[in-house]
Amino acid sequence: MNESTRLPINLVVLGAPGAGKGTQAVQFARRHGILRISTGDILRDAVQAKTALGQRAKVIIDAGALVDDQLMIAIVRERLTRSDVVRGFVIDGFPRTVAQATSLDEIMVGRGELFVIEITVPDETLVERVARRRVCEQCGNVASVAAGVERRCAKCGGELVLRSDDTESIVRERLRVYAKETRTAAISEVSEH
Ligand code: ADP
Repeated sequence: MNESTRLPINLVVLGAPGAGKGTQAVQFARRHGILRISTGDILRDAVQAKTALGQRAKVIIDAGALVDDQLMIAIVRERLTRSDVVRGFVIDGFPRTVAQATSLDEIMVGRGELFVIEITVPDETLVERVARRRVCEQCGNVASVAAGVERRCAKCGGELVLRSDDTESIVRERLRVYAKETRTAAISEVSEH
C-alpha cells in the first residue's frame, strides 16, 4: 500500500502521570510519520506564552486539577480539524473525562478507527519516577535524574527543572484525579464503542 492510500492511524494513549504516555506517543508518532498531540504540552505552551488560556490553566495545573471540559474539547476539536492530521495522530492527555471521551467519539465520526491503549504502572512506582523527572527549560526534553542532583540537558545543555506540578503532594492528587475521572469513568465509556 502506498502512502497516499494508507488508512490513517488514530491512537489515544491513556496513562497516569509518569506512566510514560508522552514518551511512547512521541516514539510512535515518529515511527509512523504521524502527528503527536499532547494537551498537557498545549497548556504548558500557553502558560509559558502567558496567554489568557495559559493564565487560567496555570492555577488549575498547579493544583493537580483538570481544566474544564468545554475548553479542552474546543482545543482538541480545533487541533483535529487542521490539514496535518489527515495521515492520523497519536494523542496523549485527552480524553480525561467521560465528557471528553464522548466528544472525541463525535469528532471522529467519518474519520476512521480510533484505537485506545492504556499504560498501567503501580502508583508508588509513578511517585518515585516523577520525583526523578526533570524537563529541559530550553528544548522540553524529559530526563530522569538521581534525587536532588541538578543536571544539564543531554540534548541541548539547557537547565533541567522540576515541573511545577511534579511535587509529591500534587502528583498524589493527580493520581487520585486520574483514578477517579479517567480510569474508571472514561475507560469504561470508550470501551463501550
Ligand atoms: P500528566 O498526565 O503527567 O498529569 P499532562 O501533561 O497530560 O500530564 O497534563 C498536565 C496537566 O494539564 C493536568 O494535570 C491537567 O491539569 C491539565 N490537562 C492536560 N490535559 C487535560 C485534559 N484533557 N483535560 C483537563 N485537564 C488537562
